[in-house]
Formats: sequence, structure tokens, C-alpha cells
Amino acid sequence: MPRKLVVLGCTGSIGQQALDVVRALPGRFEIVGLAGGSNLAILQRQVTEFQPRYVYAATKSSECSFAGSRYMPMEEMASLPDLDLVLVATVGTVGLKPTLAALAAGNRVAIANKEVLVMAGELVAAEARAHHLPLLPVDSEHSAIWQCLRGEVGESWAEFHPSVSRLLLTASGGAFRDWQPGQLREVTPEQALAHPNWRMGPKVTVDSATLMNKGFEAIEAHWLFGVPYDRIDVVLHRESIVHSLVEFVDGSLKAQLASPDMRLPIQYALTYPDRLPSPVAPLDLARLGRLTFGEVDRGRYPCFQLALEAAAKGGAYPAVLSAADEEAVRAFLAGSIAFTDIAGLVSSTLEAYSGARPASLDEIMDVDAWARAEALAWVSRHGR
Ligand code: MG
Repeated sequence: MPRKLVVLGCTGSIGQQALDVVRALPGRFEIVGLAGGSNLAILQRQVTEFQPRYVYAATKSSECSFAGSRYMPMEEMASLPDLDLVLVATVGTVGLKPTLAALAAGNRVAIANKEVLVMAGELVAAEARAHHLPLLPVDSEHSAIWQCLRGEVGESWAEFHPSVSRLLLTASGGAFRDWQPGQLREVTPEQALAHPNWRMGPKVTVDSATLMNKGFEAIEAHWLFGVPYDRIDVVLHRESIVHSLVEFVDGSLKAQLASPDMRLPIQYALTYPDRLPSPVAPLDLARLGRLTFGEVDRGRYPCFQLALEAAAKGGAYPAVLSAADEEAVRAFLAGSIAFTDIAGLVSSTLEAYSGARPASLDEIMDVDAWARAEALAWVSRHGR
């Protein structure tokens, strides 16, 4: 029987690559629902090819017709009965409600939308636990950790295990790792979008250049694997071949290595617990020659530091961090603020927050809205 799949964020980078995986494994999946963003031309092509029963577009247009597919909002699509998996590949806050809806309906979720875990990791992890559902990682680092842990802890990777001493996330250093800090003020969106190793969407590529992404990934790892923050470290690894590592109490390290191609971690989540052939070429270690590791220079990456501080404070701070960063990246890509203003905007928004610890989805959405308004006010005061 083919797996019944819903893809939220199907027109983004992860969504399109997920459909590449589906296309390469004929007969394995049935696409029940596709939810796209504003790229209607891509969505139209996908709907024609995969003929989903349900479709959603963030921006509707009269020129688009999805004959044969019923229009359905994302939360409803995520909670359809009899699904095998909901892939949440949206970007930013928009994925939170559909993720919670999927879990509440008893549907398994593969989570690529890391901001969901950053802003509401506690709520999402609790909802998954309450329904005895695993959260399947898609981010390459977390997929690597998941693959390393599965051989040790079986299917209980969501709980911290006493045999684990540390998680080690690898970081490429992003587009500006070799630039002088003084050169960063005038970098353009095009320069920030040129990642040295990965083909990814614009938000995560800019977050990689500031290393905010690696701070988000520490928070993501904390909620996916139940590991305390003082046992999550980051190591600079320029080649993006070792996708992350787990250190065990006996001093052994396990790592997962592969070509930097997002189709691999996506496929692992879609076909879990099976491993199937993929179009990604295996590594030629002799040709690679060597792999390098180093310390992350924290002074170079203020956003990374801000993310770790927000994670340590907990409560609403990660939600403020995520919302402020989303607005900052949007403003930078629109040319309204400088690259180096991203850290200033996020830092000032975090400092301005004085509210309580959010306990419900509504309270988290209120924090999110407050942080966005605060961030936009910062842009109008300091922007160009
Ligand atoms: Mg990643």
C-alpha cells in the first residue's frame, strides 16, 4: 500500500525536493494533499502531476484552477483521517497550527519547519507525547543525530538516554565565513543567498550566514531528542559532509556522513523505518581527501549567541527570537535593513520583552504578534 502523504509548503525548497523523492520512488506514496505558498505556477504543475485530492494556496488567484482537487486550509488538511505522514515544510510561524492540528488528529509529523520547534517546542513535544506520536526530523543535522541514536536507543529517541553524553551539531559557517567582520555591513541579499554547500530556501540560507540557524538547531535538537542544552555543542565543519554527531559516555562518537543533498534526510523521514535507494551519489572518501573541524568564532556570529541566550532563558524568549528574526530576514531581503542590522533588531526585540511565560498556543501567538510589531517598529526607526 502506498503511504498517504500531505505536504505543507510543497512549493518551497524542501517541499519541491520531497516531491523529487516521491517521484523517484514510484508506487511508494500517494499525495493526498498539497499546500503551497505564493508560487502558483509551481503549485499548478505539482497538482497536475500528483493529482492530490486536496489543495491549498497561501495566495489564491483567479488564473489558477485546480480542477479535480478540493480547496482545503492547512490545518484541516493536516488533520485528515487515515494519513500516514504530514510533512511540515513551511517556513516560519505559519507551520505551528497545522503541526499541532496534525498531532491532535493522531497523524505522524515529519518536521522541516524548524521555527515551529523554536517558538513552541515545549507545546509541540508535549502534544506528540500525549498522542504517542514520534516527531520525525528532516533538518540534515537532526536527521544525522536521529540515525546515530536509532542504533542505540531504538525508537525512543525523543527521550534523553543516559548512554548519550553530547550532541555535536556541525556548522558550515555560511556564506561569509571567510569575510572580515568589517565587510559585512554592505553585503547584498544575493551574496547572503549564496550558500557554499547547500541548496536551500532564502530564509534558512540567510539564517545560515548569520549562524542564527545553528542556534535554532540547538533548540530544535533539545525538543526533538530531550537533551539538555549543556549537552548540545556546535563544531565548525566547512565541508558539510559530516552532518552531525552523537558522543556517548564511553567516549565513542557516531557520525552520519553523506553528500550535502537535502533529498537524503527528506527521504529518510518519508520512508522511515526503511532505508531505500536514492539518486544521491555516494561519497568518494579518497577523492574528498580530508575533512576539517574547528571552533565556531562566537564574536563573528552575534545571532548565534543571541539564540543560545534565548534558549537558556526559555519561556517566551525563543518565540520572540524566531518572530524577530523572521521579520529581520524579510526586511534584509527587501533591502530595508543591512545584514548586520539583523542581530541588532533581534537583540533589541529580545531586550524589550518583559511578558510572562506563554502556556498555551494563543499566548504563543500573542508573543509572536508582539515581537513582529516590535521588529517592524525597529525597521521603521533604523531602516533605510
Ligand atoms: Mg540544518
